[in-house]
Amino acid sequence: MKQVASKSKKQNPALENYGTMRERMVERQLAARGIRDPRVLAAFRSVPRELFVPEGLRASAYQDNPLPIGEGQTISQPYIVALMAQLLELRDQDRVLEVGTGCGFAAAIFSCLAREVYSIERRPDLAEAARVRLRNLGFDRVRVSVGDGSLGISELAPFDAIVVAASGPEIPAALKAQLAVGGRLVMPMGATHRSQRLTRVQRASEHEFDVEDLGAVTFVPLIGRQAWADS
Ligand code: SAM
Repeated sequence: MKQVASKSKKQNPALENYGTMRERMVERQLAARGIRDPRVLAAFRSVPRELFVPEGLRASAYQDNPLPIGEGQTISQPYIVALMAQLLELRDQDRVLEVGTGCGFAAAIFSCLAREVYSIERRPDLAEAARVRLRNLGFDRVRVSVGDGSLGISELAPFDAIVVAASGPEIPAALKAQLAVGGRLVMPMGATHRSQRLTRVQRASEHEFDVEDLGAVTFVPLIGRQAWADS
């Protein structure tokens, strides 16, 4: 990854402020709330979140909430991305599938923690913008594709970790099938849009999946063949 923030600091005093905001976000929103994995905290210190939001929202990039990114979609709250990253227990050699690229911020974070990130987004314009942004910022371990991520990417499976950034009615069978034995899957799930629970699945063996409920969350809907229908 290019050292975007530190390289630009000397040239632009505004970016120095972003560095301060980023550090404060790591301390107050992540570390203080129980994000302990030092690799996750280091990843959040190194990714310039202000460059993943629309230009007019840069000053709000380090707020403790999701922000709109266009097309009715959002960049997730920093804490939620950090929690998901910590729950995935990523290792340097892992191959990761992310469903729901959005602006590409979470993919950038995961790419600091793993070998390869395959991120799939159903909206072509968001996918293209994320691809260009990630390339320009030097996150060259992320591959972005367009498609229905509820079906996974069977030709690239198995994945050591799968993360879904939108909420579906249940864990898609295709994603369970594409998770390596020993792999971790994290996804918001709920019978209705208002009763979502963050869920972690660990594949214990070919046919055994251990499921944990990690509490209430709010995500945009996962729209797809093994998810909600498009309305
Ligand atoms: N990963 C993002 C980030 O970095 O903050 C947040 C993603 S946003 C909350 C959820 C994304 O999931 C949206 O861009 C939406 O278009 C996408 N999405 C919804 N259903 C999908 C599907 N079946 N396949 C791929 N992407 C999907």
